[in-house]
Amino acid sequence: MPEKVVVIGSGPAGWSAAIYAARANLNPLLFEGTAQPEMIPLGQLAYTTEVENYPGFPFGNVREFVESSVDKSRHYNLPPAPDHKKDGKYHYAVQGVELMELMKQQALNFDTRVVGDDIVDIDISNRPFKVIPGNGDPVETHTIIIATGARANYLGLPSEEEYKNKGVSACAVCDGALPIFRRKPLAVIGGGDSAVEEANYLANLKDAATIYMVVRRDQMRASKIMQQRALDHPKIKLLWNRVVDEVVGDGNLVTGLKLKSTKDDSISDLNVGGMFVAIGHTPNTAFLRGKVEMNEKGYIVWQKPFRTDTSVDGVFASGDVADDYYRQAITSAGTGCMAALDVERWLVDQGIE
Ligand code: NDP
Repeated sequence: MPEKVVVIGSGPAGWSAAIYAARANLNPLLFEGTAQPEMIPLGQLAYTTEVENYPGFPFGNVREFVESSVDKSRHYNLPPAPDHKKDGKYHYAVQGVELMELMKQQALNFDTRVVGDDIVDIDISNRPFKVIPGNGDPVETHTIIIATGARANYLGLPSEEEYKNKGVSACAVCDGALPIFRRKPLAVIGGGDSAVEEANYLANLKDAATIYMVVRRDQMRASKIMQQRALDHPKIKLLWNRVVDEVVGDGNLVTGLKLKSTKDDSISDLNVGGMFVAIGHTPNTAFLRGKVEMNEKGYIVWQKPFRTDTSVDGVFASGDVADDYYRQAITSAGTGCMAALDVERWLVDQGIE
């Protein structure tokens, strides 16, 4: 018997889809990914520290709640709890991994079956569809929810890798307000709309110091209105024709950057306490190429407003894999829920019980 629904991906979109599908008695099978080659187990939030903008998790003793909720066998996966107890109160919000383990637990509570494998290929030319895992046997299914997400592009420098989560981030909205960045001059790399948005966000934080935008050409790719916003902001300073040559730190945190001129290769030092990389994202859709309609950047194209249908009837998409605009955990979770509801209604329409 084919599965009723297979969910591919284990970020907020995947787990939300699974929770809703499970509660609709669709008995979902979810492929979690192994980070090889594309799907990150628990999604991009697995690489984030504190998540202060996911509703429902204000500051508090989140760890006690997480440990009491998540099955003991997975506690090893939790990052060290930050020691933010001041004034007799806890001052930390949920961490990325904690939030994802909570979502996973909620899906497991309703008997979602989870497979720790990647989907490397998919046959959606005929129904039932076939999904092909990297290590297991192909699985037949009536519907598919693609929730494989996207990954932030990084510069690819070894020093950048060394300081990830220690001053190097790809999300100012997620990480910018963390204490390690507070009141420090910071650098945003890139000249697109995202880079301007990140710089603007950082520059508008309380007590922000100078925010440098490092742009590799003598012009930005961002829309005119966004360019003007950066140029007009008293705390944003543009550094043209420069790329990052090295991230410098003291072993614990970023202390500066070595910048290389794209005009004459000369090197200069920039004192900053953090680097935010905003040079675009890549959706995890390589295994779908030529099978589902995508835009020129490889993001899946939703076919109808406020629906998660892809170009193939019975295949739905949720989360960042189909959204290069909002890219938030809460919006991903929302579209995951929508995809499960779309699947439920599609199965009813097809008379599949
Ligand atoms: P973009 O592709 O638009 O811009 C990427 C930027 O990064 C460019 O300035 C590019 O330089 C630079 N870059 C790329 N690789 C490197 C590198 N290795 N080293 C240094 N710089 C590099 O991506 P965005 O994420 O900014 O935007 C994605 C889409 O989302 C766009 O369509 C954008 O309009 C949209 N968006 C809209 C927003 C809004 O309207 N408010 C907000 C955010 C995004 P170069 O120009 O030289 O290639």
